[in-house]
Amino acid sequence: MYKVFKFGGSSVANASAITQAMRIVQDHASNSHCIVVVSALSGTTDALISIANQAALGNDAYNTELQQLNAKHITCVTELLPVTNQSATISWVQQQFNTLAAIAHSVYTIRELSLQCKDHIIGYGEMLSSYIITAYCNSIAMPSTWVNAKQLITTNATYGNAAVHYELTNQAIQAYYAQHNYNVYIVPGFVAATSTGTSTTLGRGGSDYTAAIIGAALHVQEVLIYTDVSGMMTADPRIVPNAKPITTISYQEAMELSHFGAKVLYPPTIQPLLKKGIPIHIKNTFDPTHPGTIIQATSTPTHTLINGITSINHIALLNLEGSGMIGITGTSHRLFQALAQHHINVILITQSSSENSICVGILQAHSTQAVAAINTTFEYEIYQKLINPVVLETDLSIIALVGEGMKNHTGISGKAFNALGKNGINIRAIAQGSSEKNISIVVQSNEVKKAVNTLHESFFENASKQINLYLLGVGNVGTKLIAQLMQQQPYLLSTANVQLNVVGIANSKQYVLNPDGIPLHTWQQALAQGEVANMQAMTTSIQAYNLRNAIVVDTTASHIVPEYYSTYLHKSISVVACNKIAASSAYHNYSKLKLAAVAHNCKYLFETNVGAGLPIIATIKDLLQSGDTVHAISAVLSGTLNYVFNNYNGTIPFAQVVQQAQDQGYTEPDPRLDLGGTDVMRKILILAREAGAVLEMEDITNTPFMPAACMQAATISDFYTAMLAHEPHYVHMYQAAKAENCILKYVANYSISNGVITATVGLQHIPPSHNLYHLYGKDNIVLFTTDRYQDQPLVIKGAGAGADVTASGVFADIMRISS
Ligand code: ADP
Ligand code: ASP
Ligand code: MG
Repeated sequence: MYKVFKFGGSSVANASAITQAMRIVQDHASNSHCIVVVSALSGTTDALISIANQAALGNDAYNTELQQLNAKHITCVTELLPVTNQSATISWVQQQFNTLAAIAHSVYTIRELSLQCKDHIIGYGEMLSSYIITAYCNSIAMPSTWVNAKQLITTNATYGNAAVHYELTNQAIQAYYAQHNYNVYIVPGFVAATSTGTSTTLGRGGSDYTAAIIGAALHVQEVLIYTDVSGMMTADPRIVPNAKPITTISYQEAMELSHFGAKVLYPPTIQPLLKKGIPIHIKNTFDPTHPGTIIQATSTPTHTLINGITSINHIALLNLEGSGMIGITGTSHRLFQALAQHHINVILITQSSSENSICVGILQAHSTQAVAAINTTFEYEIYQKLINPVVLETDLSIIALVGEGMKNHTGISGKAFNALGKNGINIRAIAQGSSEKNISIVVQSNEVKKAVNTLHESFFENASKQINLYLLGVGNVGTKLIAQLMQQQPYLLSTANVQLNVVGIANSKQYVLNPDGIPLHTWQQALAQGEVANMQAMTTSIQAYNLRNAIVVDTTASHIVPEYYSTYLHKSISVVACNKIAASSAYHNYSKLKLAAVAHNCKYLFETNVGAGLPIIATIKDLLQSGDTVHAISAVLSGTLNYVFNNYNGTIPFAQVVQQAQDQGYTEPDPRLDLGGTDVMRKILILAREAGAVLEMEDITNTPFMPAACMQAATISDFYTAMLAHEPHYVHMYQAAKAENCILKYVANYSISNGVITATVGLQHIPPSHNLYHLYGKDNIVLFTTDRYQDQPLVIKGAGAGADVTASGVFADIMRISS
């Protein structure tokens, strides 16, 4: 019985990898004939290509690189073999490098590198590795014989990517193995011969193919491909850290995945084995007990219906358009013929049903040639203006979603496009084969990593959705928010499947960004070691990371941060603000931000702008969405002023009560914004706007209660001094209300009647019978009069200030976006 093993470059990268790989063979060698196909030591093929190209350009550097490669092989021999039997192998390896040096020198002298010559040079990699490995196997008492693959595999004489002549090859392989009876055969992968006997290769990654050709010719039970990952994975593990090995997959699916970029298997490998129904087993040399992936006739259906996601970069789209194409037969034939004549492979095709455009995807390297070929073919139609000159778009990537399960199932593309749309990823073209095994999506190359991760998350990681947070501002609210996030992370992961990942933290002095996540228990150190604050530079980095499900959280009172909201929203990064500046800025700016969020499928939320954590703005949204109309809002919206007037009774100075409020974190950083009414004006403005009014700050009537002299103080400390000097004024205010059996409340009113809007803020005398009377501490209250709440208003009441409740309101906004 024969077993075919293939070990890739990293499985034979050096002496230690080779030792591990051959241990696997040893486990089978006692009871089967093992055919072991090996790649070159990792990096060798690339190095040989580079040596050949540099020599052809007349660049001396080829020599150094050749010497390094030579040394690497000699080191491998000395590390693998016992000193006593190294010399024969070293001298053979040295001889090969001498010949190689002579060939490279000729290329260098003549400055010419034919495909044939290049193939000859790069074939040395596998010849060397297989020879060394044979010597090693013999040295560990596993008698092995070295087989020259060029005597087994014959191709048609096209170099670089030769097509196998199966008839000759099958005969040669069957005859060879019928004549010999060794336990272990070591075969160089990738190399083959042309029908005239010269050396050729099977194309990059071609060692897999060598194993498949031999396995098929000998009808083996399975072909084992050993590599450095535990099977074919749901996505390229270098792009998607959460990629998982696929247990079983069909030949068709594996073919789609490998054609669309899953490098783990060279695409032509599948064909010869599929024909004979021989399974391919992909395994990890460095974790040999892992079951890996079995590629066979049928796959095990997954609940996700798709089995894998892949991508290829360096794609260009050619778009041929024009009224002259409608209903005319032969246009696409001529287009494809033009490309075929120049050996340009078409990777993707779409045609709209209006028939006035055809779009094809090709490798970007062919784009100049392709454009010229097509424009020449359609020269006459272009001249007649029936067809436009072909339009080229470059720097694109194709992403493929692969799975036989999607056949006759609805909703897969909807889910994919929805996930991409939510992350602002623009789709340039789409194709789905009628076999429904593959949906191909073309995106800009700089979006591919984000797109593949987004898709992977929505199809394979139903278990958890990662939300990436940038926290700007770590003052009272920001620090509380971090504490709450830290506390809730495990709970949200286990109950809501949401993984909150803080990827940026900033204050006015510094910022730190880390797309892998900043550990929250040491955030202060991370920030202290960060960059010097620079909104523009930070924003540029945030845009470049292009992370999925990203949210910028503004807990600052800064004027600068809101200027960047628009930039974020345009990148589909949601914004959560407790900063009121943007929502209370000019109406056109407020509405521009709201529209940008809608247009870019993200959210701009600012629930904590009014009433801290109380669900006031959310309630307005709910009312409007359910068809209600808000006619009036009456509210006490300043936790600060409520605290101040609830605690002031003329016994201790007004200034001191304000100071207490500030000390407890109930005021804006500048308490004048609270006492002058600006803060309340901003809040009623925001509520009115959310209720549908087009309103500006100037439209609100503010009747001040503070003496002008206090408000004009130059600094905050001067302000306190001035208030103290005006104590009699405050005593008088208090007594006047008391005389009417009333208390003082700072009230904001908004109403709309017959299209006329009235909005006011100011101090009022409130009698005990009034809805606003029983309001204690720093509480806020909002009364909505609506169509449905006519007689008795809808009332929302509760703590309306304080870092903890504000942070929890911000947190709630984050969760609204996350779910
Ligand atoms: P070898 O040298 O063993 O032939 P390759 O480098 O050709 O190995 O292929 C293995 C590599 O393919 C993996 O290390 C992995 O980074 C990459 N790869 C890309 N896409 C996939 C995928 N879908 N599944 C597994 N590996 C993938
Ligand atoms: N050494 C060849 C290459 O790197 C073939 C292989 O390793 O599969 O393309
Ligand atoms: Mg490979």
